[in-house]
Amino acid sequence: MNEGNQSSWQTLVIATSNLGKIAEFNTFFSSLSLRIVKQPQGLEINETGKTFAQNARLKALAVAKLTGQLSLADDSGLSIHALGGAPGIYSARYANTDQERINRVLQELVPFRNREAAFCSALCLVSPQGDVLVEVEGICEGVIVDEPRGNNGFGYDPIFEVKSIGLTFAEMDKEQKSSLGHRGKAVKKLLPKMSELLQAYSMGKYN
Ligand code: IMP
Repeated sequence: MNEGNQSSWQTLVIATSNLGKIAEFNTFFSSLSLRIVKQPQGLEINETGKTFAQNARLKALAVAKLTGQLSLADDSGLSIHALGGAPGIYSARYANTDQERINRVLQELVPFRNREAAFCSALCLVSPQGDVLVEVEGICEGVIVDEPRGNNGFGYDPIFEVKSIGLTFAEMDKEQKSSLGHRGKAVKKLLPKMSELLQAYSMGKYN
Protein backbone atom coordinates (compact mmCIF):
# COMPACT_ATOMS: atom_id res chain seq x y z
CA MET A 1 0.00 0.00 0.00
CA ASN A 2 1.31 3.40 -0.99
CA GLU A 3 1.12 5.86 1.95
CA GLY A 4 0.12 8.90 -0.12
CA ASN A 5 3.65 9.78 -1.22
CA GLN A 6 4.47 11.91 -4.24
CA SER A 7 3.91 9.27 -6.89
CA SER A 8 0.42 8.55 -5.55
CA TRP A 9 -0.72 12.04 -6.64
CA GLN A 10 0.85 11.72 -10.09
CA THR A 11 -1.09 8.65 -11.13
CA LEU A 12 -4.85 8.36 -11.47
CA VAL A 13 -6.26 4.85 -11.34
CA ILE A 14 -9.55 4.54 -13.19
CA ALA A 15 -11.66 1.97 -11.36
CA THR A 16 -12.67 0.03 -14.44
CA SER A 17 -11.43 -2.58 -16.86
CA ASN A 18 -13.67 -1.20 -19.63
CA LEU A 19 -11.31 -0.07 -22.39
CA GLY A 20 -13.98 2.21 -23.89
CA LYS A 21 -14.16 4.17 -20.65
CA ILE A 22 -10.35 4.30 -20.31
CA ALA A 23 -10.07 5.73 -23.84
CA GLU A 24 -12.58 8.46 -22.98
CA PHE A 25 -10.82 9.38 -19.72
CA ASN A 26 -7.46 9.60 -21.51
CA THR A 27 -9.00 12.25 -23.78
CA PHE A 28 -10.73 14.10 -20.94
CA PHE A 29 -7.59 14.36 -18.79
CA SER A 30 -5.05 15.04 -21.54
CA SER A 31 -4.44 18.55 -20.12
CA LEU A 32 -3.61 17.31 -16.61
CA SER A 33 -0.15 16.07 -15.72
CA LEU A 34 -1.44 12.72 -14.51
CA ARG A 35 -0.60 9.23 -15.62
CA ILE A 36 -3.89 7.40 -16.31
CA VAL A 37 -3.95 3.67 -15.57
CA LYS A 38 -6.70 1.11 -15.31
CA GLN A 39 -7.48 -0.85 -12.16
CA PRO A 40 -5.37 -3.93 -11.31
CA GLN A 41 -6.15 -6.90 -13.51
CA GLY A 42 -8.58 -9.50 -12.17
CA LEU A 43 -10.10 -7.18 -9.57
CA GLU A 44 -13.82 -7.92 -9.11
CA ILE A 45 -15.91 -5.46 -7.14
CA ASN A 46 -19.46 -6.36 -6.17
CA GLU A 47 -21.66 -3.49 -7.26
CA THR A 48 -24.17 -3.72 -4.43
CA GLY A 49 -25.29 -0.08 -4.50
CA LYS A 50 -28.83 0.96 -5.46
CA THR A 51 -27.77 4.05 -7.42
CA PHE A 52 -25.02 4.97 -9.88
CA ALA A 53 -23.51 7.28 -7.23
CA GLN A 54 -23.42 4.54 -4.58
CA ASN A 55 -21.71 2.12 -6.98
CA ALA A 56 -19.18 4.73 -8.11
CA ARG A 57 -18.23 5.42 -4.48
CA LEU A 58 -17.94 1.73 -3.71
CA LYS A 59 -15.61 1.12 -6.69
CA ALA A 60 -13.40 4.19 -6.11
CA LEU A 61 -12.96 3.36 -2.41
CA ALA A 62 -12.09 -0.27 -3.17
CA VAL A 63 -9.48 0.67 -5.79
CA ALA A 64 -7.89 3.41 -3.63
CA LYS A 65 -7.65 0.95 -0.75
CA LEU A 66 -6.02 -1.68 -2.93
CA THR A 67 -3.60 0.57 -4.86
CA GLY A 68 -2.91 3.47 -2.45
CA GLN A 69 -3.31 5.77 -5.48
CA LEU A 70 -5.66 8.59 -6.41
CA SER A 71 -8.68 6.69 -7.77
CA LEU A 72 -11.62 7.64 -9.93
CA ALA A 73 -14.68 5.50 -10.58
CA ASP A 74 -17.40 6.03 -13.14
CA ASP A 75 -20.62 4.14 -12.68
CA SER A 76 -22.83 4.70 -15.65
CA GLY A 77 -25.70 3.25 -17.59
CA LEU A 78 -28.72 3.67 -19.77
CA SER A 79 -32.20 4.26 -18.31
CA ILE A 80 -35.13 3.75 -20.68
CA HIS A 81 -38.41 5.38 -19.71
CA ALA A 82 -40.74 2.76 -21.26
CA LEU A 83 -38.83 0.01 -19.41
CA GLY A 84 -39.26 1.69 -16.03
CA GLY A 85 -35.63 2.87 -15.99
CA ALA A 86 -34.06 -0.46 -17.02
CA PRO A 87 -31.34 -1.47 -17.60
CA GLY A 88 -30.13 1.39 -15.33
CA ILE A 89 -27.52 0.26 -12.80
CA TYR A 90 -27.71 -3.20 -14.40
CA SER A 91 -26.57 -1.90 -17.83
CA ALA A 92 -23.33 -3.89 -17.82
CA ARG A 93 -25.11 -7.03 -16.57
CA TYR A 94 -28.16 -6.94 -18.90
CA ALA A 95 -26.71 -9.74 -21.09
CA ASN A 96 -23.30 -11.26 -21.79
CA THR A 97 -22.00 -9.16 -24.69
CA ASP A 98 -22.57 -5.64 -26.06
CA GLN A 99 -24.43 -7.14 -29.04
CA GLU A 100 -26.70 -9.23 -26.80
CA ARG A 101 -27.41 -6.26 -24.54
CA ILE A 102 -28.40 -4.17 -27.57
CA ASN A 103 -30.59 -6.98 -28.93
CA ARG A 104 -32.34 -7.37 -25.58
CA VAL A 105 -33.13 -3.65 -25.33
CA LEU A 106 -34.45 -3.48 -28.90
CA GLN A 107 -36.56 -6.60 -28.34
CA GLU A 108 -38.05 -5.31 -25.08
CA LEU A 109 -38.91 -1.97 -26.70
CA VAL A 110 -40.88 -3.52 -29.59
CA PRO A 111 -44.30 -2.98 -27.92
CA PHE A 112 -43.59 0.67 -27.04
CA ARG A 113 -43.77 3.89 -29.06
CA ASN A 114 -42.01 5.91 -26.36
CA ARG A 115 -38.25 5.59 -27.07
CA GLU A 116 -37.08 8.25 -24.58
CA ALA A 117 -33.93 7.33 -22.64
CA ALA A 118 -31.08 8.91 -20.70
CA PHE A 119 -27.49 7.97 -20.02
CA CYS A 120 -26.14 8.81 -16.56
CA SER A 121 -22.56 8.90 -15.32
CA ALA A 122 -21.70 9.20 -11.64
CA LEU A 123 -18.05 9.94 -10.85
CA CYS A 124 -16.32 9.55 -7.51
CA LEU A 125 -12.74 10.64 -6.82
CA VAL A 126 -10.99 9.16 -3.79
CA SER A 127 -7.62 10.23 -2.36
CA PRO A 128 -4.67 7.82 -1.97
CA GLN A 129 -5.51 7.82 1.75
CA GLY A 130 -9.09 6.68 1.08
CA ASP A 131 -11.05 9.94 1.51
CA VAL A 132 -13.92 10.76 -0.85
CA LEU A 133 -12.83 14.03 -2.51
CA VAL A 134 -15.42 14.76 -5.20
CA GLU A 135 -18.73 13.26 -6.37
CA VAL A 136 -20.51 14.55 -9.51
CA GLU A 137 -23.05 13.35 -12.07
CA GLY A 138 -23.72 14.01 -15.75
CA ILE A 139 -26.84 13.16 -17.76
CA CYS A 140 -27.46 12.96 -21.49
CA GLU A 141 -31.05 12.71 -22.81
CA GLY A 142 -31.83 10.90 -26.05
CA VAL A 143 -33.88 8.23 -27.79
CA ILE A 144 -33.37 4.57 -28.61
CA VAL A 145 -33.28 4.10 -32.40
CA ASP A 146 -34.95 1.17 -34.22
CA GLU A 147 -31.70 -0.25 -35.58
CA PRO A 148 -28.04 0.18 -34.52
CA ARG A 149 -26.11 2.90 -36.38
CA GLY A 150 -22.38 3.76 -36.36
CA ASN A 151 -19.13 2.02 -35.51
CA ASN A 152 -17.47 4.21 -32.88
CA GLY A 153 -17.53 3.92 -29.11
CA PHE A 154 -18.69 0.97 -27.06
CA GLY A 155 -21.65 -0.56 -25.22
CA TYR A 156 -25.06 0.81 -26.18
CA ASP A 157 -23.55 3.62 -28.31
CA PRO A 158 -25.04 2.39 -31.66
CA ILE A 159 -28.64 2.56 -30.41
CA PHE A 160 -28.59 5.83 -28.43
CA GLU A 161 -29.34 8.98 -30.46
CA VAL A 162 -28.91 12.49 -29.14
CA LYS A 163 -31.94 14.28 -30.55
CA SER A 164 -30.41 17.75 -30.94
CA ILE A 165 -27.77 16.44 -33.37
CA GLY A 166 -29.60 13.43 -34.86
CA LEU A 167 -26.59 11.11 -34.45
CA THR A 168 -26.10 8.03 -32.31
CA PHE A 169 -23.09 8.07 -29.97
CA ALA A 170 -21.50 5.50 -32.30
CA GLU A 171 -21.81 7.93 -35.24
CA MET A 172 -20.11 10.78 -33.35
CA ASP A 173 -16.42 11.56 -33.29
CA LYS A 174 -14.62 11.71 -29.92
CA GLU A 175 -15.07 15.47 -29.54
CA GLN A 176 -18.82 15.32 -30.20
CA LYS A 177 -19.38 12.51 -27.71
CA SER A 178 -17.16 14.28 -25.14
CA SER A 179 -19.13 17.50 -25.30
CA LEU A 180 -22.64 15.99 -25.50
CA GLY A 181 -22.21 12.73 -23.57
CA HIS A 182 -23.05 11.98 -19.94
CA ARG A 183 -19.44 11.20 -18.97
CA GLY A 184 -18.13 14.37 -20.60
CA LYS A 185 -20.72 16.43 -18.73
CA ALA A 186 -19.76 14.82 -15.40
CA VAL A 187 -16.06 15.36 -16.15
CA LYS A 188 -16.73 19.03 -16.89
CA LYS A 189 -17.98 19.39 -13.30
CA LEU A 190 -15.09 17.34 -11.92
CA LEU A 191 -12.18 19.02 -13.74
CA PRO A 192 -12.07 22.39 -11.93
CA LYS A 193 -12.25 20.63 -8.55
CA MET A 194 -9.56 18.19 -9.60
CA SER A 195 -7.26 20.99 -10.80
CA GLU A 196 -7.70 22.73 -7.42
CA LEU A 197 -6.83 19.54 -5.56
CA LEU A 198 -3.76 18.86 -7.71
CA GLN A 199 -2.60 22.44 -7.23
CA ALA A 200 -3.07 22.17 -3.46
CA TYR A 201 -1.07 18.94 -3.53
CA SER A 202 1.74 20.55 -5.54
CA MET A 203 1.90 23.32 -2.92
CA GLY A 204 2.44 20.74 -0.22
CA LYS A 205 -1.03 20.66 1.35
CA TYR A 206 -1.24 16.87 1.27
CA ASN A 207 2.40 16.09 2.12
P1 IMP B 1 -20.32 0.03 -15.27
O1 IMP B 1 -18.96 -0.28 -15.77
O2 IMP B 1 -20.80 -0.83 -14.18
O3 IMP B 1 -20.47 1.50 -14.98
O4 IMP B 1 -21.29 -0.32 -16.48
C1 IMP B 1 -21.63 0.60 -17.41
C2 IMP B 1 -22.30 -0.09 -18.58
O5 IMP B 1 -23.23 0.85 -19.12
C3 IMP B 1 -21.29 -0.38 -19.69
O6 IMP B 1 -20.86 -1.70 -19.67
C4 IMP B 1 -22.11 -0.11 -20.93
O7 IMP B 1 -22.86 -1.24 -21.26
C5 IMP B 1 -23.06 0.99 -20.49
N1 IMP B 1 -22.48 2.31 -20.77
C6 IMP B 1 -21.99 3.22 -19.89
N2 IMP B 1 -21.56 4.31 -20.52
C7 IMP B 1 -21.76 4.08 -21.82
C8 IMP B 1 -21.49 4.84 -22.99
O8 IMP B 1 -20.95 5.95 -22.97
N3 IMP B 1 -21.87 4.28 -24.15
C9 IMP B 1 -22.47 3.06 -24.23
N4 IMP B 1 -22.70 2.30 -23.19
C10 IMP B 1 -22.36 2.80 -21.98
